Amino acid sequence: MSYNDWESVIGLEIHAQLLTDSKMFSPDSTHFGAADNEHTHPVSLGMPGALPVLNAKAVEFSAMTGLALNCKIRQRSVFARKNYFYPDLPKGYQISQYDEPLCEHGHVDYFLNGEIRRVGITRAHMEEDAGKSVHQGEATLINLNRAGVPLLEIVSEPDMRTPEEAAEYARTVRKILRYLNVCDGNLEEGSLRCDCNVSVRKKGEAKFGTKVELKNINSFRFVEKALEYEIKRQIDCIETGEKIKQETRLYDSTKNRTFTMRSKEDAHDYRYFPDPDLLPVVVEENWLAILKAKLPELPLARAGRFQADYQLPVYDAFVLTTEKALADYFEAVAKDSSNPKAASNWVMGEVLRELNEHKIEIEKCPIAAVDLARLIKMIDGKEISGKMAKDIFAEMWQSGSSPVHIVKAKGLSQVTDTSTIEKIVDDVMVASQQAVADYRRGKTKLFGFFVGQVMKVSKGQASPELVNQILTTKLKG
Ligand code: ADP
Ligand code: MG
Repeated sequence: MSYNDWESVIGLEIHAQLLTDSKMFSPDSTHFGAADNEHTHPVSLGMPGALPVLNAKAVEFSAMTGLALNCKIRQRSVFARKNYFYPDLPKGYQISQYDEPLCEHGHVDYFLNGEIRRVGITRAHMEEDAGKSVHQGEATLINLNRAGVPLLEIVSEPDMRTPEEAAEYARTVRKILRYLNVCDGNLEEGSLRCDCNVSVRKKGEAKFGTKVELKNINSFRFVEKALEYEIKRQIDCIETGEKIKQETRLYDSTKNRTFTMRSKEDAHDYRYFPDPDLLPVVVEENWLAILKAKLPELPLARAGRFQADYQLPVYDAFVLTTEKALADYFEAVAKDSSNPKAASNWVMGEVLRELNEHKIEIEKCPIAAVDLARLIKMIDGKEISGKMAKDIFAEMWQSGSSPVHIVKAKGLSQVTDTSTIEKIVDDVMVASQQAVADYRRGKTKLFGFFVGQVMKVSKGQASPELVNQILTTKLKG
């Protein structure tokens, strides 16, 4: 048998914690990292008689995201009770949306291997998060700080065919959420959670196979790894005559395997019904129009504009738009320096390298965009050489000062005065008469030696262009 005869089908459910100050239905803070059970209003505890009050900001963030995902925003959507018992869900049900979700029928375009691809969005609905169970030896402790934190669950169509597509789609959704500033997208802290549904079928078959849901995946790299493992497992299973069980499996990244967690409930197991404590959410057209007007330029559109406006290659445009703050930084440098390609090279090269090395975000970059632009202008104006610029950049990173200041303080500016360089060239030629004679007899490789000598005497400050020019003329004799 060959794995190549098989095709995988993947659909993702992404849970995004919304960056509201308070919870979905109570005034509790959503702040991450508080002491255990500090944020436990009676509503979060599920006390009898405690009534939920809908957080308007959560609806706004959800609708904004829906618009960004090209969804239709339902004029009327309904909260439902999804009944199940877990210790971290004190009410015995989760408030979610069921057959009338806020957002539906959308799509997301993402970029992979040189082309734009599309994933359909089935729906994006609002719900509340559950608390956390912490297992300690024999005991299980409950922390309800997270109970009731607003979530938006973004459900995709089963449109993806490879783990690579799934990971890139998920990265794109994260990017959009961060551009909108509605979710911080932190997979490790769990503010973004990605459940992967996957099935396999023989190539050419129209019918989908039985799907398995993978949970507990806390990085995009693991999305790919978990899916790769699971696809192979399912194919092996079927090839040996077994049936795939519809179930939820957990991914263990240290073992790179998936394990059965529980058999999958069907929707009817949850006994969904409209929550009698909450009114339907009614969205008015003019409110939606206001939200639409507030939408920022989204990453894909921005990447397209970077290609058009700044003549950047596709690759640059996508790297520079991965984060809104990075795109803003690049754009400031590009505009101030009037040299977008150089701006892109510096940002994608030195800036990203230093940020990665020091593990800091672009917001904390010690070099202000105006200063990097200034540096590029100094190179373009031949005040400094490219080589000097690298050193000055390192100094700017260290001290945060402007390149103008550094050049002045260190007496670094480039020597562009012809007579000064001519004088150095003459001295070098006098000191290396043998080399001059050899050069004139045809050992033209020595040219580099002369350049080196002149640069050494000028402490690297002679304009390389002028040095080349003057040396060429003088060495001819
Ligand atoms: P459930 O009722 O089990 O929650 P849904 O139909 O709501 O299932 O789908 C949940 C997710 O699983 C969606 O992202 C959907 O795209 C995906 N999905 C559905 N069927 C399949 C399948 N056969 N293979 C892979 N993914 C699937
Ligand atoms: Mg479902």
